[in-house]
Amino acid sequence: MHEARVDAELCDGCQDCLEVCVYDAIALVRFPPSRRLKAVVDPVRCCGCMACGPPLCPRDGIELVPIRLS
Ligand code: SF4
Ligand code: SF4
Repeated sequence: MHEARVDAELCDGCQDCLEVCVYDAIALVRFPPSRRLKAVVDPVRCCGCMACGPPLCPRDGIELVPIRLS
Protein backbone atom coordinates (compact mmCIF):
# COMPACT_ATOMS: atom_id res chain seq x y z
CA MET A 1 0.00 0.00 0.00
CA HIS A 2 1.09 3.54 -0.71
CA GLU A 3 -0.03 6.97 0.36
CA ALA A 4 0.50 10.25 -1.47
CA ARG A 5 2.37 13.03 0.29
CA VAL A 6 2.80 16.58 -0.98
CA ASP A 7 5.90 18.64 -0.38
CA ALA A 8 4.41 22.06 0.34
CA GLU A 9 7.72 23.74 -0.46
CA LEU A 10 7.53 22.46 -4.04
CA CYS A 11 3.77 22.68 -4.68
CA ASP A 12 2.64 25.75 -6.62
CA GLY A 13 -1.08 24.94 -6.45
CA CYS A 14 -1.51 24.10 -10.14
CA GLN A 15 -4.33 21.63 -9.32
CA ASP A 16 -3.19 18.94 -11.74
CA CYS A 17 -3.25 16.38 -8.94
CA LEU A 18 -6.74 17.39 -7.82
CA GLU A 19 -8.05 16.74 -11.30
CA VAL A 20 -6.77 13.17 -11.49
CA CYS A 21 -7.77 12.08 -7.99
CA VAL A 22 -11.14 10.39 -8.37
CA TYR A 23 -11.21 9.74 -4.61
CA ASP A 24 -11.36 13.45 -3.74
CA ALA A 25 -8.37 12.92 -1.50
CA ILE A 26 -6.56 16.14 -2.42
CA ALA A 27 -7.59 19.65 -1.45
CA LEU A 28 -6.00 23.07 -1.86
CA VAL A 29 -5.29 24.73 1.44
CA ARG A 30 -3.85 28.13 2.34
CA PHE A 31 -1.23 28.29 5.03
CA PRO A 32 -1.08 31.89 6.32
CA PRO A 33 0.81 34.13 6.08
CA SER A 34 1.46 32.75 2.58
CA ARG A 35 -1.26 33.65 0.09
CA ARG A 36 -0.54 30.63 -2.09
CA LEU A 37 -2.72 27.56 -2.09
CA LYS A 38 -0.99 24.23 -1.61
CA ALA A 39 -2.20 20.70 -2.23
CA VAL A 40 -2.83 18.58 0.84
CA VAL A 41 -3.65 14.87 0.83
CA ASP A 42 -6.30 13.45 3.14
CA PRO A 43 -4.73 10.16 4.25
CA VAL A 44 -8.16 8.71 5.07
CA ARG A 45 -9.40 9.17 1.51
CA CYS A 46 -6.15 8.35 -0.28
CA CYS A 47 -6.19 4.72 -1.38
CA GLY A 48 -2.73 4.79 -2.93
CA CYS A 49 -3.94 4.41 -6.52
CA MET A 50 -0.81 6.30 -7.64
CA ALA A 51 -2.66 8.31 -10.30
CA CYS A 52 -1.08 11.47 -8.90
CA GLY A 53 2.41 9.97 -8.79
CA PRO A 54 5.32 10.86 -11.05
CA PRO A 55 5.44 12.21 -13.70
CA LEU A 56 2.15 14.04 -13.12
CA CYS A 57 3.26 16.86 -10.84
CA PRO A 58 5.17 19.47 -12.86
CA ARG A 59 7.03 20.47 -9.69
CA ASP A 60 7.85 16.91 -8.64
CA GLY A 61 6.04 17.72 -5.41
CA ILE A 62 4.18 14.44 -4.83
CA GLU A 63 5.71 11.34 -3.38
CA LEU A 64 4.02 7.97 -3.05
CA VAL A 65 5.30 6.50 0.18
CA PRO A 66 4.81 2.93 1.31
CA ILE A 67 2.65 2.57 4.40
CA ARG A 68 2.45 -0.27 6.85
CA LEU A 69 -0.92 -1.85 7.49
CA SER A 70 -1.56 -2.39 11.17
S1 SF4 B 1 0.31 18.71 -9.20
FE1 SF4 B 1 2.05 19.24 -7.85
S2 SF4 B 1 2.28 21.47 -8.01
FE2 SF4 B 1 0.25 20.91 -8.82
S3 SF4 B 1 -1.13 21.18 -7.04
FE3 SF4 B 1 -0.51 19.01 -7.12
S4 SF4 B 1 1.29 18.89 -5.76
FE4 SF4 B 1 0.95 21.05 -6.25
S1 SF4 C 1 -2.65 8.19 -4.72
FE1 SF4 C 1 -4.66 8.16 -5.78
S2 SF4 C 1 -6.17 8.36 -4.13
FE2 SF4 C 1 -4.19 9.01 -3.29
S3 SF4 C 1 -4.15 11.25 -3.56
FE3 SF4 C 1 -3.12 10.31 -5.35
S4 SF4 C 1 -4.73 10.10 -6.92
FE4 SF4 C 1 -5.74 10.42 -4.92
